[in-house]
Amino acid sequence: MREGLLSGAVDDADIALPGMDLPGVTWRLGERAVHLDPSNRSVRLAGGDQVSAEAVVLAVGARPRRLPVEAPGGDRMPALRTADDTARLRRRLTPDAPVLVVGAGLIGTETSGVLRRAGHPVVLVDSAATPMAPLVGPTVAEWILRRHRAAGVDVRTGTTVQSLDRRSDTSLSVTLSDAAQLTAAVVLPALGVSPDTDWLADSGVLGDAPTGAVAVDGQQRVLGRPGLYAAGDAAAVPGPDGRPVRVEHWGAALAQGRAAARAVLADLGTGGPEGPLPAVELPSYSTYVHDTKLTILGWPQSATQDVALLGTPGDDRFAIALHDRHERLVGAVGVGGARAVNRIKDLLQRRASVDELAALRAATR
Ligand SMILES: Cc1cc2nc3c(=O)[nH]c(=O)nc-3n(C[C@H](O)[C@H](O)[C@H](O)COP(=O)(O)OP(=O)(O)OC[C@H]3O[C@@H](n4cnc5c(N)ncnc54)[C@H](O)[C@@H]3O)c2cc1C
Repeated sequence: MREGLLSGAVDDADIALPGMDLPGVTWRLGERAVHLDPSNRSVRLAGGDQVSAEAVVLAVGARPRRLPVEAPGGDRMPALRTADDTARLRRRLTPDAPVLVVGAGLIGTETSGVLRRAGHPVVLVDSAATPMAPLVGPTVAEWILRRHRAAGVDVRTGTTVQSLDRRSDTSLSVTLSDAAQLTAAVVLPALGVSPDTDWLADSGVLGDAPTGAVAVDGQQRVLGRPGLYAAGDAAAVPGPDGRPVRVEHWGAALAQGRAAARAVLADLGTGGPEGPLPAVELPSYSTYVHDTKLTILGWPQSATQDVALLGTPGDDRFAIALHDRHERLVGAVGVGGARAVNRIKDLLQRRASVDELAALRAATR
C-alpha cells in the first residue's frame, strides 16, 4: 500500500476504511483527547467537551521519533507515518533524486526497497553495527544487510546523522558522525515510534512499562485501573517472561483491539464470552526486504541465540528459530517462505525447549 501511495497508483479514496457508518457509533473526528480522569473514566477533548463512559479503550497509537538534529527549511525531511506524509514525500521525489534513509529497522528497510525499485539512489544509515538484529536475530540481520547491498543500497552502519544543511533549493548537505559527507534531495527519518501518550502523563496509567506505554494484562485491561483498557502501539502487553513489551504491528493491534472488546463485554456483563478469556495470540507479521518476504513470529526481542530451522542463509529460502537464555523458544523468522516457521507455532506458543524442537526436526526429516 505504501508503495502504491508513493508511486501515486493508490490515493486516499482507495485506503478509506469501509463500514464507518456503524449503528450506535458516534465519530468525533478531528478532535484530540487531552486529559483522562481514571477515577470516573472521563476524557476531556481539546474543544473542552467531557466524555464519560463505563469503559475507556486507549488506542492512540504512536508517533514517529524525530531525528535529533536541527531541521533545515524546505520540507525535505518529511515524517513517515500518514498518507499525507507520503504525499508530501512524493512531491519532493523527482526522478533519480538521491534519498538518505536514517534508521535501518522495519520501516527504513521496506522504504529503501520501495525507493530502489523506483530507481532512486539510496543511502541507508544506522547507528547499530547490525541493525534489525534485535527484531530478527543476528543471522537474518546479517542476511538483510547483504540483501540491501546486492540491491544497490549504500548501507552505512555504526554511524548517524550529525548535521543537515540546506545546500540548494533541491538538496541538503549531510554530515555523518564518522565525518562522511553526503548530498540528498530528501532525508527520511525512520527511527521507530513512541506511544502517543503525553496527554496521559498525569493520569497515573503510565507505569513501569516501556517508555510512554500503557501496561495491560493478557486481556488488555490497564493494570490496577478497572474500566480502562489499552490496545495497539500504545499498549505494553505481557511478554514471554511476563515483562511488559510493545508489539508494533497491524496484526497485533487488530488482535489486541478484539481482545479489549471481549474484555469490555465480559466486564460489563453484556454478552461477553463465557469462561476465561483467551490471551492474545502469538505476535506474527510479515515484511519485505526488497522482493523477499520475511515472516516473523513470537518475541525475537527476548532471544539470546538463534538456531537453524530450514536451509542456510545462502539459500533462497531459509528459516531460523530463536531461544532465550533458558533455551526456551521465543521466536522464529522465515525468509522467502513461512511454512517452516508456521509449523513450530505451537512450540512457540508453549515456549517449548530447544530439545523439543530438535526432536521434532529429527522426527520430520
Ligand atoms: C511507515 C509505517 C509502516 C508500517 N508498516 C507496517 C507493516 O508493513 N506491517 C505491520 O504489521 N505494521 C506496520 N506498521 C505499524 C502499524 O502501522 C501499527 O502497528 C498500527 O497502525 C498500530 O495501530 P494502532 O491502532 O495502535 O495505532 P494507529 O494506527 O497509529 O492509530 C492511532 C489513532 O489514534 C489517533 N490519536 C492519537 N492520539 C490521539 C488523541 N490524544 N486523541 C484522539 N485520537 C488520537 C491517531 O490520530 C490515530 O488515528 C507501520 C507503521 C509505519 C509508521
